[in-house]
Amino acid sequence: MAEQTKFSVLCSLFTWIQRSKSSAKKRSKFRKFIDTFCKSDDYFSGIRLILPNLDRERGTYGLKESVLATTLIDALSMSRESEDALRLINWRKGGAKAGANAGNFALVAAEVLQRRQGLASGGLTIKELNDLLDQLASSENRAEKILVLSTLIKKTNAQEMKWIVMIILKDLKLGISEKSIFHEFHPDAEDLFNVTCDLKLVCEKLKDRNQRHKRQDIEVGKAVRPQLAMRVADATAAWKRLHGKEVVVECKFDGDRIQIHKNKTEIHFFSRSFLDHSEYGPGMSDIIVQNILVDRCILDGEMLVWDKSLNRFAEFGSNQEIAKAAKDGLDSDRQLCYVAFDILYVGDTSVIHQSLKERHELLHKVVKPLKGRLEILVPNGGLNAHCPPGEPCRSLIAHNVDDVERFFKETIENRDEGIVLKDLGSKWEPSDRSGKWLKLKPDYIRAGSDLDVLIIGGYYGSGRRGGEVAQFLVGLAETPSPNTYPRRFISFCRVGTGLSDDELDALVTKLKPYFRKYDYPKKAPPSFYRVTNNSKERPDVWVDNPQKSIILSITCDIRTINSEVFAAPYSLRFPRIDRVRYDKLWHECLDVQSFVELVQSSNGT
Ligand code: ATP
Repeated sequence: MAEQTKFSVLCSLFTWIQRSKSSAKKRSKFRKFIDTFCKSDDYFSGIRLILPNLDRERGTYGLKESVLATTLIDALSMSRESEDALRLINWRKGGAKAGANAGNFALVAAEVLQRRQGLASGGLTIKELNDLLDQLASSENRAEKILVLSTLIKKTNAQEMKWIVMIILKDLKLGISEKSIFHEFHPDAEDLFNVTCDLKLVCEKLKDRNQRHKRQDIEVGKAVRPQLAMRVADATAAWKRLHGKEVVVECKFDGDRIQIHKNKTEIHFFSRSFLDHSEYGPGMSDIIVQNILVDRCILDGEMLVWDKSLNRFAEFGSNQEIAKAAKDGLDSDRQLCYVAFDILYVGDTSVIHQSLKERHELLHKVVKPLKGRLEILVPNGGLNAHCPPGEPCRSLIAHNVDDVERFFKETIENRDEGIVLKDLGSKWEPSDRSGKWLKLKPDYIRAGSDLDVLIIGGYYGSGRRGGEVAQFLVGLAETPSPNTYPRRFISFCRVGTGLSDDELDALVTKLKPYFRKYDYPKKAPPSFYRVTNNSKERPDVWVDNPQKSIILSITCDIRTINSEVFAAPYSLRFPRIDRVRYDKLWHECLDVQSFVELVQSSNGT
């Protein structure tokens, strides 16, 4: 990039790409930009601003919409009570003046900025912008962040600032895929990125855009884009796709996909978005160093939490808490446990071109399993041997569709997330989702009967449904004494999907007269609702009279989880609205006791 190229040039490109309808036009605009405005020794400065979500050179900004809102308010020296400040804070919400921008933070910000910035561009260059973004990412306190934002505001107009906000939020909404950007830049860019996850390196190595690059192998210490699974509807469809192949079926663990890179005592834990999760280090590094029997190695697998007292994996959601407890040296019944289901590198060579069957053998040789800490998922032995008695095995060779069906059923009964089927003859391919791995999940297996729940609150949507209620907080009745109506409702879960736009509009219109906004924390939720203090239970509006509310029949994944968030003893996974029950009265809502009985009978517990 000619370092002195103005950021306004890039903004024009963004606007053009966003406005162009066809993908060919979008691509040719991008291509023209790099051909005209970029120099071969500095493609990175521009491309990192076009693909901000792939740029790992600067740390994170720590500025999601809500924090960005208050930081911008201070950078603009606005009063927090002012109308514009409230619009930024309540960017999701509607209100009389919300307009079409509600639900899109960058557009709301541009609207507010327009009233405060001049029309003329401040002449910010791409180099200056990158320097300021570096400062923003490295600043350690709020005051520094405010200072950087106010410098940016001085050097830009509202349109430019809108794009900067989108860069900070790492989503430009241009409607062009990263694949197309890579392709226009260089024919080998995507492949090189997939095996290095390093945008700077890609821009530098491929600076001669007419020269093909020899295929690069994966390396220890550089994250690789993970192989992915294709979704299938049922066991028969899965079996058909893998026809004639030797197939292994594995439990689909519900944790964090993590690649472990070991280079002697140096250990990295790369996530799916190639961030290095060093917080897993204190709990896991020693175990990796001692139980991986080669100096250099890359494992692919899932980071989970093992509950020692229950002798099983804990439900999803506590990884960070347990990692922190390990760091603070706290004693706990729970510990991090890594399940390696693949191996990508051993000693001084990549092994991804070997078959999965061969890689399973390598896993056996290289990893010394340690119960509840470091497990391997292979059909003969590994985690299967460590499973508590009575639990189904977690990996087996399937000989026919009945084997798959049976395995799937057992896994679901065991309340796991689903299964993954893999072709044992296949190699491991970065970023591939073409069907060598298939996943089968039990979404929306019906609970024994529909659950009739009462709408007690609403959440505003974003984007197209910005400013309108698009999701609901639903409740169960506190079990009433015989022959009386329920008096209180217990928050139960949040549900949004399942209705058509028209059905949703009709429902929201009926409920609108009873929706009340609440000013937290000044005002508590209505007393006839029981909620916890969790912020997820702060709907944007409450239904101020349950007797005027409406019942929804919801279906759900039959597995329930112990709810830490909502006040009811259980919540649901993947709840979905089946029907609006205008034919039912508010007091016919399911009560807690009946619900618990229903869960227990369907879980067999
Ligand atoms: P999902 O929400 O279904 O997990 P996803 O887009 O995150 O989808 P996919 O690649 O589609 O990921 O599904 C595979 C994911 O399942 C992996 O990324 C991994 O995190 C997880 N997983 C759990 N167990 C396994 C396993 N045995 N083999 C492969 N992946 C597994």
